[in-house]
Amino acid sequence: MSGIYIHIPFCKQACHYCDFHFSTNKDLIEEMVDAICVELEGRKDFLPQGNPIRTIYFGGGTPSLLSKSHLEKILDTVTKWYPLDLEEVTLEANPDDLSTSNLQNWKALGIDRLSIGIQTFNPEILKFYNRAHTAEESLKAIESAKSTGFEKLSVDLIYGFPSANHDIWKKDLEIALSQNPGHISSYCLTVEPKTALGNWHKKGKYIAASEDFAAEQFEILMHSMEDAGYVQYEISNFGKPGQFALHNTNYWLGVPYLGIGPSAHSFDGKSRGSNIAHNVQYIKKLKTGESIYAKEILSNEDAANDYILTSLRTIWGTDLTYLKDNSGYDLTDLKKDTFKMLRQEKLILEETNKIILTKKGRLLADSIAESLFLP
Ligand code: SF4
Repeated sequence: MSGIYIHIPFCKQACHYCDFHFSTNKDLIEEMVDAICVELEGRKDFLPQGNPIRTIYFGGGTPSLLSKSHLEKILDTVTKWYPLDLEEVTLEANPDDLSTSNLQNWKALGIDRLSIGIQTFNPEILKFYNRAHTAEESLKAIESAKSTGFEKLSVDLIYGFPSANHDIWKKDLEIALSQNPGHISSYCLTVEPKTALGNWHKKGKYIAASEDFAAEQFEILMHSMEDAGYVQYEISNFGKPGQFALHNTNYWLGVPYLGIGPSAHSFDGKSRGSNIAHNVQYIKKLKTGESIYAKEILSNEDAANDYILTSLRTIWGTDLTYLKDNSGYDLTDLKKDTFKMLRQEKLILEETNKIILTKKGRLLADSIAESLFLP
C-alpha cells in the first residue's frame, strides 16, 4: 500500500500564521503543472515495486485553485505511470473555491474526499489572520459539497487564537458539529518565525496564547468530539467510523509515500527526503534534468524514533513487536522504568505489546515520545 502527495504551491493571499511553502504569484501555475507531471514520470520507480497506489492527496498551498484541466493532466499522468488501486483521492480546498461547477468537476475527476480549510467561523479572527473567505462562505461550501454528493468531508479548524476565548472556541466547534462532517482536523496555532505573525511577535506587537490556554482548548476539543461521536484516531484528527483519512493514517503508520511538487517530502521505507522549496528553481531544474530531491538516509535509530513519534499519536499506538522486528530494539526492556512511570501517571494504557496514550497522555504526546526515543 502506498500513497502520492502532490503539493500545489499557490495561494490567493498569505494567511498571517502560515509557514507552508506557497506563492501568491500565480503566473507559474501552467508551468508548475507541467513540472509536476515531469517529476511524476521521473520518480515512477521511487516507491517499493509491486505496491499499487491506494491514496492520492492534493495539498498545499491551495490545490482548489487549479482548473479542471490542470487536475486532469496531473491525474492522467499518475494513471499513466503508476499502478493504481485507488481507495481515496483527497483535495484540500478553501471555502471560497467550492463553487458548484468546481465541485462537479472534482467529482467527475474521481476526487472523493475534500479537506476544507475553514479554521474558524469567527468573522473578526478570519479577517485578522487574512483568511480569504467569510464564515458564510464556509457554511455554504459544506452545504454545496454535500449536495454535490461528497460523502467524505473534513473540516479544518484552528484553536489557540489568543483573541478567541473559550466561548468563541466552543462556538466554532458547535457550528462545525452542527454541519455533521465525517471528519474534523484541528491543530493549535503556532507562531512561526518567517510569517507575519512571527514578525509581529518579534516586535512585541503580538502576544501568543499561553500553553495552558491552548491545552484547555485542546481538552474542550477532545470532549466535544467525543460527545458528538467522533473517534480521536490521531491527536489532531477526529473521524466518524468509516471516515478516517486513509492517506494520513498511512503516514502515521510508517507506510511509504511519494511527495511531488516543491517542498514535498517522501519516504520509501528506508530513506526520507524533500524537494526543493522554491517554485522557479523547481520548474527550472525539472526542465534541465537536475535533481530537485535531497535524500536523507535514516539510521536505524532515527527510523525507529520517527515511528515512535508518529505512531504514538494514533489510537493504534506504538507496536512494540513491529518496532523490535524492524529496529532490533526491545523497548519493553530498554525503557522499563519509563513505562513504569508513564503507567503510574496514567499517561499510557496497560497494554502489553503496544504503547497507547490515555486522554491525559494525549496532552503530553510529544514529550512522552521523546522519553521513549532511542539514543
Ligand atoms: S493557510 Fe492555506 S490558504 Fe493560508 S497561506 Fe497557508 S496554505 Fe495558503
